[in-house]
Amino acid sequence: MTITIASGKGGTGKTTVSSNLSFYLASKGENVVLADLDVEEPNSSLFIKGKEVNKEIAYTMKPVWVEENCKLCGKCAEVCNFNAILALPKGILTFPELCHSCYACSELCPTDSLPMKPHRIGEITEYEGDFAFVEGRLDLGQEMAVPLIKQTMEYVNKKYPSALKLWDAPPGTSCPVIEASKDSDFVVLITEPTPFGLNDLTLAVETMRVLNKKFGVIINRYGVGDNKVEEYCAKENIPIITKIKNDKEVAKLYSNGELIYPKIEHFKNSLDEIIEFFEGLK
Ligand code: SF4
Ligand code: SF4
Repeated sequence: MTITIASGKGGTGKTTVSSNLSFYLASKGENVVLADLDVEEPNSSLFIKGKEVNKEIAYTMKPVWVEENCKLCGKCAEVCNFNAILALPKGILTFPELCHSCYACSELCPTDSLPMKPHRIGEITEYEGDFAFVEGRLDLGQEMAVPLIKQTMEYVNKKYPSALKLWDAPPGTSCPVIEASKDSDFVVLITEPTPFGLNDLTLAVETMRVLNKKFGVIINRYGVGDNKVEEYCAKENIPIITKIKNDKEVAKLYSNGELIYPKIEHFKNSLDEIIEFFEGLK
């Protein structure tokens, strides 16, 4: 089973829940693997101090201009929908950071002057510890998160086909979170009981409905705001998996990079509710 842990905005506790849940499941003997797919800012490794066992460089294919045969016809720039090629009077400029690797320019070029070549975008690192942990990390200056998210998931799926897979998704509702959610069995949306939390949750819910995904909600920092998120979930028939109480001690442990569930009973109870909910999905 594959479960994506997502949120409409950052800072709602996605990493806190996914990392603690992974440790807790592993302590119960579950074969679990966690992947940090927030490739632009992966931070699960702050909590998970595993031993690095493998590192792979991630590439995507980008066109590289070969001057010799180019007729400067400009067709490559015309066909690119992403402004990743500029045809100048005396040459062709390519912008790999804008390129979506669609191959159109390369295939259309009448003189084979734009062969596709591997272009480094980041790294996939695997750690061993209480459970397997895999992190995708985009190189500085790279903007294409989706290919690296896809490759990180492929790495995990190939290496751990029968494990329970938890995807710690990027925040938001754009392409990266869609990529991290579209093939999952279930998506957990973490939110807060505040007007901002509700606003971002409604956007995330719309996205999941377009993707036709099964999903449920975890309300984190329960008690800080109002009950509008609960009312919304009841009206929309969205299951609330658990409510994690607002607690300064949780925030303190988190900022120290410590595990929370061994020290805070109500947090552990919430993890039990999450696990029970997952059991019901099988
Ligand atoms: S399509 Fe090929 S030949 Fe034409 S300008 Fe582009 S690289 Fe040169
Ligand atoms: S591969 Fe596609 S996106 Fe990339 S430069 Fe060529 S046409 Fe543009």
